Amino acid sequence: MRKIAIYGKGGIGKSTTTQNTVAALTEMGRKVMVVGCDPKADSTRLLLGGLAQQTVLDTLRLSGSSVRLPDVRANGFSDTLCVESGGPEPGVGCAGRGIITSINLLERLGAYDESLDYVFYDVLGDVVCGGFAMPIREGKAEEIYIVASGEMMSMYAANNICKGIKRFATSGTVRLGGIICNSRNVDNEYELIAHFAQELGTRLIYFVPRDNDVQRAEINRKTVIEWNPACKQADEYRSLARAIEQNSTYVVPKPMESDTLEGLLLEHGMLGAA
Ligand code: ADP
Ligand code: SF4
Ligand code: MG
Repeated sequence: MRKIAIYGKGGIGKSTTTQNTVAALTEMGRKVMVVGCDPKADSTRLLLGGLAQQTVLDTLRLSGSSVRLPDVRANGFSDTLCVESGGPEPGVGCAGRGIITSINLLERLGAYDESLDYVFYDVLGDVVCGGFAMPIREGKAEEIYIVASGEMMSMYAANNICKGIKRFATSGTVRLGGIICNSRNVDNEYELIAHFAQELGTRLIYFVPRDNDVQRAEINRKTVIEWNPACKQADEYRSLARAIEQNSTYVVPKPMESDTLEGLLLEHGMLGAA
């Protein structure tokens, strides 16, 4: 079973990319569980056809120790298994701790059975606090992909996430599998992100183009793969799924100093252009 965490800045496209990649993996015959680790609890919406899923933490609050697996896990598109960890009550508790509580509960309920080929954790990455580093800190996820675009803030976030990975990779088994570029149609974006990935000691595993079919599918509460399997964007996600399936390059990342990152942006014409 491959345990994969998807990190990246909020709004960069983690949940969309994860669910579409997962849908493509199921076409390849893989059995996949998705565990949403964002208090927004929208990591499985496209796989579940928009159905609101009761989160693990809400269920725990309501039912205590009598929780059963079907209470917190729903079947989605193509037999995917969908869980939303949820968050603490606003203003109370630690969201990161909540994620670990959820994963521990899933383990206790036997959610990680032998039939699974992949588990994907879709994790918020703006704050790289101890809380959100939990899935990698506790060895729950072993393989990480960071979603980024050529926009400066997403690259800053990606670099910070690499600092977190480096800390835990040095003492544990977690490794970076690559950067997924979710394009924002920034000038020279492919070259910029490929260079960025190289500087981090990893590689650009796939460049996902920006395409309005993603929104069209989203309005229909579906992945692109389900909504229109014949469209071009569906093939992009199939290619990303194959790239992940075939990946064999895992590294301890080398995060950059801010100066180096800014130098890279300058070199590719991103800063001072105005
Ligand atoms: P995150 O999970 O990182 O917060 P989401 O997956 O929710 O981000 O994506 C934010 C928005 O970006 C969504 O409304 C989605 O429709 C849009 N989006 C994501 N990827 C693409 C893409 N490749 N092309 C067009 N729109 C995209
Ligand atoms: Fe929030 Fe992170 Fe602090 Fe937990 S560790 S309370 S998730 S900021
Ligand atoms: Mg999300």
